[in-house]
Amino acid sequence: MSSIAPSTGAVLAQQRPSPITSKARPFRVFTQRDLERIEPLRRLSPEHRFAMRVVSSVLPFRVNAHVIDDLIDWERVPEDPIFQLVFPQPGMLEEAHFSRIADLLRAEADEALLGEAVREIRAELNPHPAGQMENNLPRLGGEEHLQGMQHKYRETVLFFPSQGQTCHAYCSFCFRWAQFVGDKSLRIASNEVNSLHQYLRHHPRVSDLLITGGDPMVMKTRHLETYLEPLLRPEFDHIQTIRIGTKALTFWPYRFTEDSDSDALMALFERLVARGKHLALMAHVNHWRELESPAVRAAIARVRESGAEIRTQGPLLAHINDDPSVWARSWKTQVRLGMVPYYLFVQRDTGARRYFEIPLVRAWEIYREAMQQVSGLGRTARGPSMSAGPGKIEIQGVTEVQGERLFVLRFLQGRNPDWVNRPFFARFDPEATWFDDLKPAFGERDFFFSEEYRRRWPERPL
Ligand SMILES: *Cc1c(COP(=O)(O)O)cnc(C)c1O
Ligand code: SF4
Repeated sequence: MSSIAPSTGAVLAQQRPSPITSKARPFRVFTQRDLERIEPLRRLSPEHRFAMRVVSSVLPFRVNAHVIDDLIDWERVPEDPIFQLVFPQPGMLEEAHFSRIADLLRAEADEALLGEAVREIRAELNPHPAGQMENNLPRLGGEEHLQGMQHKYRETVLFFPSQGQTCHAYCSFCFRWAQFVGDKSLRIASNEVNSLHQYLRHHPRVSDLLITGGDPMVMKTRHLETYLEPLLRPEFDHIQTIRIGTKALTFWPYRFTEDSDSDALMALFERLVARGKHLALMAHVNHWRELESPAVRAAIARVRESGAEIRTQGPLLAHINDDPSVWARSWKTQVRLGMVPYYLFVQRDTGARRYFEIPLVRAWEIYREAMQQVSGLGRTARGPSMSAGPGKIEIQGVTEVQGERLFVLRFLQGRNPDWVNRPFFARFDPEATWFDDLKPAFGERDFFFSEEYRRRWPERPL
C-alpha cells in the first residue's frame, strides 16, 4: 500500500522500536514506563503529567505510534477525544484512590508497597461486570467448563482466543482492563481450539460465532487460521456468520494492509466468504476522527475488497463522544465508507466509570438527536443498549403514561429468546446510569421477566 503517506514518527522522542509483526512499518508501543518518552506530552503541565502517572499505575495504559502520530490532534490536547480515549486522565480514579497512589509516588515508596496499594484498588474496581466471569460458561457433555467461551444467547457463541487477549492500544474506559494488568485469575481466555470446534459441532442451533478479546486481530494470521479454517468443513455449515470484534481497523490499520501476514489474512477472509460464510468485522469506533486517517481508509477498503462486511459499535462516553453531532458524523462517514452502524452501547460499570458515565436519559437524547441527522442508511445502529444479566436492553425512549414519566425499554437479546422485542417500562429516573438503577413503572414490584430470570438463572445478579 504505497499510497499511504508514511507516518513520520517525528513526534516520538528517542524511538526504541519494539517491532512485533511488520515488514514495512514497525509496531512501536508505549506503556506507563514510556510516558516520559512521548515527546508531545511535554506540552502538558507537570501536574497533569504526574496525574497520568498516578492513574496509569492502576489502570492499564498502552498506545502505539499510529495513534500518537495519525489519530491524536496534539493541538487540542488534553480535550482531544482520541487523547481521552487512550491516555490516562486525572479524573479517572476516585479521590481516595488517587491520593493514596499519588502519596506513594511522591514519597518514592518502594515497589512492594506501591504494588500492594495498586492491587487493593484494582480489586475494588469490579473487573467483571454482569457476572461475566462465572456465568455463561458453556459445558461439554454437561460436565466440564469450557475456558474462554460464553454461550448466553441461543444462536451466538462468544470465543476469547488466548492469543487475542491484548490490543494494539488500550481504551481508557475498557471494561476488560483487568485482563491487561496481568491478573491471570481474571482472564477469560482459551487456547482450546479443539473444544471450540467440538462445542460448535454439538450445537447445531448456533449460527453465529463471535471471536472477541482483547482484540483477536493482535493474533498472527496463522493462529486465526487454526480457529477459522476448520469452519470451512461441511460439519460446520450451521455456522453461517463469523464475527470478529476488533479495534485494529482504527488502532492498527496496517494489520490489514502492510503487516507481514496481512496478505494471508485477506486470503483467509476471502476463503471464508467464498465458502458462503457471512464474515463481519465488528469494528469498535468511538469517534469519526478515527476514520479520517488515510491508513484507516486504506484498511477499510481492503477489508471490503475481501468480501467481509464491516459493522461498527461503540459505547457512549463523556469526554469522548457525548454529542449527537459526533455520532451523526461518525455514522454518515461509516455509511459512505461502506460500513454498517450496528450498536451504540451504554458504558458498563467498571474501571473509570464515573469519569465516562452519562445518565440514561441523556444517552437516549444523544442517540435520538444523532438519528435525526442521518438518513435511513445511517439509522441501523440500535441503542442505547445495556448488556445486563438478563440480556441486552435498549432504551427506546422516555414518555408519559397517565401522568407517570417512564422509560420504554426492550430486549435486543434475552436469556430467554421469548423476551426479545417486548416493550416494558421503568420509572423515569434522571440520574440512572445503568439498568440496575431502574425500578418497574406503575408501582409494580417486578419487570415481566424478573421472576423467570431469578428462577432459571438464580446465580445471576439482576
Ligand atoms: C451482544 C452479544 C451477543 C451478540 O448478540 P447480537 O444481538 O447477535 O449482536 C452475543 N453474546 C453476548 C454475551 C453479547 O453480549
Ligand atoms: S480495543 Fe476493546 S478490548 Fe481493547 S482496550 Fe479498547 S475497548 Fe478494551
